[in-house]
Amino acid sequence: MRLIKIILLLFIIIGVTVAHENTFQKLYETYSNYKVSEIVNKRFSHLEFLTVLEKFQDSKLIDISTAGYSVEGREIKLIKIGTGEINVMAWSQMHGDESTATLALLDFLKFINSNDDDFNDLRNTILSKITLYIIPMLNPDGTEKFRRRNELDIDINRDALRLQFPESKILKKIQEETKPKFAFNLHDQGTRYTVGNSYKVATVSFLAPAYNYKKDINDVRKNSMKLISQLTKNLSQFIPGHIAKYSDDFEPRAFGDNFVKWGSSLILIESGGWKNNYNKSYLRKLNYVALVSGFESIANRSYEDESIEEYQNIPENKKLLFDLLLRNVTIEKNNKTYTVDLGINQIETATSDNRDFYFKGKIEEVGDLSIYYGFDELDCTGMTIEQTLVYPKSFGFVSEIKNSDVTKVLNQGCSFVQVDSIETSDRFVKCPINIVKTDSKHKNKIGLGKRANFVLKKKGDIRFVCVNGFLYDTKSGKNNIQNGLIIK
Ligand SMILES: [Zn+2]
Repeated sequence: MRLIKIILLLFIIIGVTVAHENTFQKLYETYSNYKVSEIVNKRFSHLEFLTVLEKFQDSKLIDISTAGYSVEGREIKLIKIGTGEINVMAWSQMHGDESTATLALLDFLKFINSNDDDFNDLRNTILSKITLYIIPMLNPDGTEKFRRRNELDIDINRDALRLQFPESKILKKIQEETKPKFAFNLHDQGTRYTVGNSYKVATVSFLAPAYNYKKDINDVRKNSMKLISQLTKNLSQFIPGHIAKYSDDFEPRAFGDNFVKWGSSLILIESGGWKNNYNKSYLRKLNYVALVSGFESIANRSYEDESIEEYQNIPENKKLLFDLLLRNVTIEKNNKTYTVDLGINQIETATSDNRDFYFKGKIEEVGDLSIYYGFDELDCTGMTIEQTLVYPKSFGFVSEIKNSDVTKVLNQGCSFVQVDSIETSDRFVKCPINIVKTDSKHKNKIGLGKRANFVLKKKGDIRFVCVNGFLYDTKSGKNNIQNGLIIK
């Protein structure tokens, strides 16, 4: 009899666990139904954001009001959802160039506002057990310029003690009014962090911040850790090995650390990198899944069953990635040869209107890079690196260059073409070749800090051409060159 009871109990536990895992799977799989399609670019304006919010103005479940105004007078919104006893705060984009979570929060609003699906139980749990206070764009002035700081060059996340600036005052005011049990501090981190010493990019980083230099763990902080343990397990289904932990060194001026001091279990979520996901759409999806499951966990208190060890075992962020890592390249100087590795990054650079970006490829490190990794790696054993050439024939205009021309140019080891008249004021072209003005004196030297344009030769044959930090394979014709540069 006892055995039967134990077996039954086991079935129930397994059943509940599977059902739970299925919820996350389902959230992940059905994401496109809830994705706000009006904004796809990670660089969007305050007005575009307000226009999307406008759509939820008539929702009975979503209460949108004005939280205050930024230094430049832009409206900062406060969104209230649910009627439950547990207050929860969430804010995003206190750093203007970290927009992933703002978009995920908009997707969450669409999710809350939907009903013709299988998520009514989940939605009702969230709505009845918690009350959410969301500030989905705390730094609209920074957003407008897609930069970290506010209009007065202040990092809002270092103003939690002095509380001088309107954006910080708003955050503190909502905290004082609602005294949240949990708070979500939503950011983006660099795209080249790794999970500990592994080669895997840190796609999501969590932190349960410390509230003192000793990094003590009280019950408030313990609950942050438990919730993160659960979120890590949930997200690991989709991105195994890609979850890291942010440094928990105490920063007395930061909001996250102070929220813990003020009694809220704070969860920092940093959206990091994912190969070739330049617009961070996949990170946005993961963020959405993390937020919905995090809110659900608080509502049904399932985080209480988690251990803090899971959190403590998450590896810390390290910066061990380059966009492109070339290993064992042969360089020559004064008839002597040496073997080096080259670390190349594709630096995201804003267009003049700040609404789009292009890449500038740069040689960031040279030497023994054996402890590093690359999103793309190539073993260049037996290959020499040489200066690339400018294609001898000139084109009249940029628009005259056809794809077939580019292939011909690349196969001859050239990563530059000459153009007589450059008709655009842009500094880049959406084609896989660099442009220089005809008869320009431009010289492309290979070296540390220089632009990444060169050829790799094997036994005298051109094997790869590097154009603006991206490789072109002369054998297969394959490349992932996002753009060329215009050098005037
Ligand atoms: Zn940030």
